[in-house]
Amino acid sequence: MAISAGAAFDNWRTLWLNSEEQIHAIAGELGKMKVQVLRGGIWKPRTRPGSFQGIGSDGLKWIKDAGIANNLPVTVEVANPRHVEEALKAGIDVLWIGARTTVNPFLVQEIADALVGVDVPVMVKNPINPELELWIGAFERLNQAGIKKLVAIHRGFSSASQSRYRNAPNWQIPIELKRRYPDLPIVCDPSHIAGARPLIPQLSQNALDLNFDGLMIETHNHPEKALSDKDQQLTPVALNELLNSLVIRQASVDDAIFMNVLEELRDQIDAIDERILILMAERMSVANEIGQYKRDNNMTILQVERWNEILKTRLQSGEMKELSDEFIIRMYELIHQESIRHQTEVMNRSVQGKAT
Ligand code: PEP
Ligand code: MN
Repeated sequence: MAISAGAAFDNWRTLWLNSEEQIHAIAGELGKMKVQVLRGGIWKPRTRPGSFQGIGSDGLKWIKDAGIANNLPVTVEVANPRHVEEALKAGIDVLWIGARTTVNPFLVQEIADALVGVDVPVMVKNPINPELELWIGAFERLNQAGIKKLVAIHRGFSSASQSRYRNAPNWQIPIELKRRYPDLPIVCDPSHIAGARPLIPQLSQNALDLNFDGLMIETHNHPEKALSDKDQQLTPVALNELLNSLVIRQASVDDAIFMNVLEELRDQIDAIDERILILMAERMSVANEIGQYKRDNNMTILQVERWNEILKTRLQSGEMKELSDEFIIRMYELIHQESIRHQTEVMNRSVQGKAT
């Protein structure tokens, strides 16, 4: 498992410690832990101008030296060809593309073009919006430029709805990425998903339980003084505690008894899924009948009160069965959509029938 951690080079303006000393201090701590890569944001994309935007090019040498001194490969974020050029010149071992860059195919292409002929691993954070194809597009552009060592970083997705997370985890998106590209390693960045220290341990364990290949956790020796994202950084001591408390499970085991039990449980799941599908098909054929009935009586397909009633009663019933509201809502939205599709087809058939 690869774990990277690091700081955002920030206390450069305070008197007690400059950024060069800071990165050495943190790297010294991380070098003693189960950390495999040192990360640092040299150039920080900030929402508003005037915020601390990273120490800039000077920091490249600092992080590289701190990495060498502590036997850690180092990684920085690159957002344009100039960053790539400077990072490579400074001997940075791994590059990463940030969420705000992955959303922009022009920039990703420029970065890919700057990497032609270079053999450097590149990690790609998911785009800020939950769009798997955009994430995949970035890998394709880099791959076409000849970059073979690619790693995905799941950092959560921006969402309009209220959530306890800074960026909603939407685990199904990285899971689908893994399904389509089983050989692509995926690292989870619980710091940016959480946005708050107390949520980081649980998210880290969730990621490992989902068979993620590593974690990227922001670390700072004095988080309260950090110039960016101070609420989501762990002290080296807290990071060490977390790393030692994580349970690393295996994706598969050789134990025959275990495999038998697992097979049996999976058979049960397969049988239940088949029953669900039969019931869904039955539900849709009733929807077809309703569609015909509505058509014959000149009624609209959608009756909002009925849809509200369905959601309300299913949420109540789901709660008693310990099914989450989110699951019930998303499942019924899909079922309702499919039901409307069936009914629309019935209506269309009648329109076509009249036209011919
Ligand atoms: C970062 O990793 O510090 C960063 C800027 O994150 P993201 O691109 O995920 O917003
Ligand atoms: Mn950050």
